[in-house]
Amino acid sequence: IANRQQLVLKLRRAMSTTKNYDLLVLGGGSGGLAAARRAAEFGASAVIFDGAYVGGTCVNVGCVPKKVTYYAANHADFIRNNLDYGFHVEYKSFDFATFKKKRDDYIKRLHSIYFSNLNKANVDWVNAYGSITPDGSIQADGKIYKGKHIIIATGSTPILPTNIPGYDLGMTSDGFFEMEELPKKSVIVGAGYIGVELAGMLHGLGTDATLVIRKDRVLRNFDGDLSREVTASLETEGVNLKRNSQVAEVVKDGNKLKITLDDNSTIDQVDNLIWAVGRRPNSEKLNLESVGIKTDKIGNIVVDEFQNTSVPNFYSIGDVCGHAQLTPVAIAAGRKLAHRIFNGEKNSKLDYSAIPTVVFSHPPSGTIGPSEEEVRSLYQEDQIKIYKTAFTPMYNALTTHKTRTFMKLICIGKDERVIGLHMIGHGCDEILQGFGVAIKMGATKKQFDSCVAIHPTSAEELVTMR
Ligand code: NDP
Repeated sequence: IANRQQLVLKLRRAMSTTKNYDLLVLGGGSGGLAAARRAAEFGASAVIFDGAYVGGTCVNVGCVPKKVTYYAANHADFIRNNLDYGFHVEYKSFDFATFKKKRDDYIKRLHSIYFSNLNKANVDWVNAYGSITPDGSIQADGKIYKGKHIIIATGSTPILPTNIPGYDLGMTSDGFFEMEELPKKSVIVGAGYIGVELAGMLHGLGTDATLVIRKDRVLRNFDGDLSREVTASLETEGVNLKRNSQVAEVVKDGNKLKITLDDNSTIDQVDNLIWAVGRRPNSEKLNLESVGIKTDKIGNIVVDEFQNTSVPNFYSIGDVCGHAQLTPVAIAAGRKLAHRIFNGEKNSKLDYSAIPTVVFSHPPSGTIGPSEEEVRSLYQEDQIKIYKTAFTPMYNALTTHKTRTFMKLICIGKDERVIGLHMIGHGCDEILQGFGVAIKMGATKKQFDSCVAIHPTSAEELVTMR
């Protein structure tokens, strides 16, 4: 009977030109999906609008295909180290086409899983972009949708440096995931997460990769020591790093590119150029001004700590708000919001402090809490205690090629509460989650040390530092 009632409801909605829901969600990425599904669990009728694929950036042109590519690059690393461990395995070639097909198939499988989950949750999907009308409805695919609540979760898009002549000969991370062949020679521009990750993966897979950065190091908004360590690791791994450089011009040279830098040096015979110079919010085409939703100078939707926009019943989550542009942040914010709107939890909101985050560099690096520089600007010298260590991990004891592990703990107060953890090294990507829990719980250095070390691991250093 319940199924029949749902069917009748669906048919009724399909027949009328104006459709009514409890929740309208603009954007079918991680944040929008999470919010809609959680709202539906609380009995809300919900619909998601997205003109592209289900899953947004993360599933289609971000975290998911990136991590699979990262695994491929790690495979290549292992193969290179094989001989040092006594394995006579020859690295003949890498069949990028096979890898790409398997990666694409995996994403297609994820699409069906996502649609099946939406179906099970009874959340509707409209495969069209929605925009806001002056009366606060959503217009999509020639129809009008009315909602008691509207969540804007439209994400972000890579920025193109349109002031550079020939910029359009380059691609962005979106294009990286469309590549059908592994380039022989690539130039990547940008010192953030994406620049570091793409340069590392391409190099790992065998591409001659050059990373062009404006200043002297990458990840400049991370802890200073960590930023220097990641920069050094790029060079140790073999990425060509052009520091203090900017692209002045890009021209076609046969079927290759010729890139001129601002010191007049050139990089020739380049197969592809990837811009990784940041992302901008997808807020332009939403018609926000029709109802008066405020944005900042860049177009990020302005929200308060509860994800409320400047207009009642309109909320926003994820990259389009410009803060902590990370998939799990959008998901967590979306779920908290659904609890608040549809389950009466009036204080439900995401705590944006001490968010653990990892950059899939080689080796991976990550961070929780404020940098040493931030802490020094906030606390007096005698309130701060820093612990640091650096070593070669045991995995590299037998290998010719060495990596370096670096760890830093930042503690404050008499009881040495740990508020910051910054690290690069094998296993970092899996280590940080658990330590994130401890930091969130307010653990002190003494409590870290009261946990017996797991030996032999790299992580044990985090509970034995002196
Ligand atoms: P970021 O904003 O992280 O970094 C881009 C960097 O490029 C800037 O910090 C700046 O560094 C440099 N830059 C900016 N403009 C120019 C320019 N015109 N020419 C040259 N360099 C320039 O952006 P990303 O695109 O790397 O990533 C976007 C966001 O996506 C990240 O902040 C992160 O939140 C998320 N992300 C997360 C991942 C993860 O969790 N592993 C992976 C990928 C992305 P500088 O000032 O030092 O030159």
